[in-house]
Amino acid sequence: MVKIALQIKATLENIVSVRTHTDYNYFLKIKCTNCSEESDKWHDVNEKETFPSKTAKSDVNFLVKCKLCSRENSLDIIPKSTGEYTSDDQGKFKTIVVFDCRGIEPTAFSPRDGWIAVAEESGKVFEDVDLTEKEWVDYDDKTNQSVGIYELESQFVKQK
Ligand code: ZN
Repeated sequence: MVKIALQIKATLENIVSVRTHTDYNYFLKIKCTNCSEESDKWHDVNEKETFPSKTAKSDVNFLVKCKLCSRENSLDIIPKSTGEYTSDDQGKFKTIVVFDCRGIEPTAFSPRDGWIAVAEESGKVFEDVDLTEKEWVDYDDKTNQSVGIYELESQFVKQK
């Protein structure tokens, strides 16, 4: 088992924090560590969805049979590993979720929609924030300020 953290970096405008949630779909590209086959397809992984696995001996959040070597690979979202990205974290990468990987590694992350962002001054909560374009702009009607998330980047880091 290999633990791999998904980290993000972003610039926040009048936003104090941005995060995913337990029903968020992480869209990932996956590589088989046995034969190095990498699929072009995006796979969605959701902490609330589970599938029965023979090799993992318990239910897993994501299960895939490698097209090339036919090995059954799986991945789990480690419960309570999710974290929020705050205005204090700007300029550096921070872990927002950790995956427990068996036989596969995520190679790319597509942020898409479903993020939750909180405005800095008013505390207004924006739900279902769409970061598909790696940026998002909205308006806080409580403070008459524009709010936004820009220059979203992501990376994967293996944990010891
Ligand atoms: Zn394979």
